[in-house]
Amino acid sequence: MKNKEYDVFVIGSGIAGQTVAMNSSKAGLKVAIADIREFGGVCANRGCDPKKVLLGATEVLEAAQNLKGKGIRKELKIDWAELQKYKQNFTKAVPASTEEKLRDAGIKLYHQSPKFLDKDMLFVEGKTIKANKIVVATGLVPRKLAVKGGKHFKTSDDFLNLKKLPKKIVFIGAGYIGMEFAHMAARAGVDVTIIDVEKRPLTAFDPDLVEELTKYSKKIGIDFVFGAQLQSVKKLRKNFKVAYEKDGKSNSLKARMVFNTAGRVPAISELDLEKGSVEFNDNGIAVNSYLQSKTNKNVYACGDVSDNGLPLTPLSGREGYVVSKNIINGNQKKLKTPVIPSVVFTLPNLASVGYSEEEAKKRYKNILIKEGNAKNWFNAKRINAPCYRYKIILNERTEEIVGAHILSPEAGETINIFAMAINQGMTADELQGTVFTYPSWVNDVKSMV
Ligand SMILES: Cc1cc2nc3c(=O)[nH]c(=O)nc-3n(C[C@H](O)[C@H](O)[C@H](O)COP(=O)(O)OP(=O)(O)OC[C@H]3O[C@@H](n4cnc5c(N)ncnc54)[C@H](O)[C@@H]3O)c2cc1C
Repeated sequence: MKNKEYDVFVIGSGIAGQTVAMNSSKAGLKVAIADIREFGGVCANRGCDPKKVLLGATEVLEAAQNLKGKGIRKELKIDWAELQKYKQNFTKAVPASTEEKLRDAGIKLYHQSPKFLDKDMLFVEGKTIKANKIVVATGLVPRKLAVKGGKHFKTSDDFLNLKKLPKKIVFIGAGYIGMEFAHMAARAGVDVTIIDVEKRPLTAFDPDLVEELTKYSKKIGIDFVFGAQLQSVKKLRKNFKVAYEKDGKSNSLKARMVFNTAGRVPAISELDLEKGSVEFNDNGIAVNSYLQSKTNKNVYACGDVSDNGLPLTPLSGREGYVVSKNIINGNQKKLKTPVIPSVVFTLPNLASVGYSEEEAKKRYKNILIKEGNAKNWFNAKRINAPCYRYKIILNERTEEIVGAHILSPEAGETINIFAMAINQGMTADELQGTVFTYPSWVNDVKSMV
């Protein structure tokens, strides 16, 4: 039987894969796309978007609690079941509408994981396929924890779909997903503990701001066990027993649910990459600056599964765009990554862009650090916000802003101004010379530098 042939075969229908498929198809290429799960990827189905819908209710709750006795009378409560239904309005239609968009563009859809047979051959849905270019855009999946009873762990997918919240939850891992979920669950009335092997949460973020966030997280009822080695999870009648070792001693605690929030790894185990001569490492598929596989010129990788950059939606979309340009025009477009802001959507948000204090000290001869507690600034006081801190880093010689770290209710928005300032090479003076709306959180950045 004759092989099926495509100009471009995309594996994974998240933001990265969709971008490549749609652009390639618009350019007149014959395109197919495969996904092993519902179409639309993590962000829209089981990541950023549903998470932010759930977060919306906790934002209202937190804001009302902070103003209790200052104009707000009643205690608000979260109705989790109702909130879940509301969330579904955003997620339910995603797979079908994504498929429709792709089909309307003339793209052939497959609903299985392809496997590499050779450098340009795949096997999927019982068919052998030859593709001129193969694009791997399969994203990440939760890292499996090799402990006894590991099958009892629930994942971020499960948390985002919980119909009912249990009384007690343990999260294993205090990265951004664990911290965000812990904040949501604690505010919705769950007794929450986070266990982590490190000495503090959010190790990629500024330690001083993380310390303040940790203190506040404790205030809202989150317990932390740091420096702990997880030993096992055992199913009891109603609960799970989580055993861990800390300071050489064995401990345990019980919870109704235990979530693995200990990081995510490249989703490549199904692909038989070796047969396609596609090299990979712990961070994903090894790519050059054109996002082309270093070992197979027919293959490109983009989004979270490529081995460069932070696993974030905006970067994945950008990478998808770069790959589509290189497929359509031949390798002409290198991935130029601007500084990329990131945010932990706890309340308060913790956001960061550019160099950390430690990195900046290594990178520049002298740096200036502008930091402070802004809890008494008008914006925080007006809504009685419990935390507002910042640390801004300048290259002393040029006064250019090179890093910004903010803990505030609106840090996820404000950080974007710093991303723009750093990308434009703005100095403190130039930022101060800009006129922003008043009173606004963005206007505060002038006082920070
Ligand atoms: C809980 C959570 C919250 C997040 N919150 C944020 C946030 O607030 N902001 C942010 O920027 N980012 C966030 N992210 C990260 C964001 O979701 C990713 O960066 C983004 O989805 C990456 O897009 P992508 O196209 O590379 O991959 P994905 O969206 O992961 O898409 C990959 C697709 O490939 C499919 N696939 C996997 N293996 C195979 C296979 N073998 N064969 C066929 N198909 C396969 C998957 O089913 C999936 O549909 C969050 C992630 C999670 C899990």
